[in-house]
Amino acid sequence: MAMCKVCGKKGFFFRVNQEGICGKCVSTKAQETEEKLLKLIEDIESEGKAAAWGVAPWPYEQLADMYRDKNESRKEVAVLERFAAQKHAPGPQAVQLLERLKQAQ
Ligand SMILES: [Zn+2]
Repeated sequence: MAMCKVCGKKGFFFRVNQEGICGKCVSTKAQETEEKLLKLIEDIESEGKAAAWGVAPWPYEQLADMYRDKNESRKEVAVLERFAAQKHAPGPQAVQLLERLKQAQ
């Protein structure tokens, strides 16, 4: 019998994923991650540092990946556009993200 590691719910018809977490807890976790990443991006963008050095691409990428997994391509493009609008630190990851935006448009 399956039991969710997070909320402790169990039952014969209860389903958990490979990590032993039920669908409801997975989506709660995903939402928390999304909020954390959005907050992080806001912090990065509001810091003066971002203006001097450029923003790091990884939180944008993680968020874009998340939206892609959920088939929310509109949100995915919005995050990529948000990244493109920032001054970003040069590097292969930044190039990759901008390339991805070009293909998504
Ligand atoms: Zn659960």
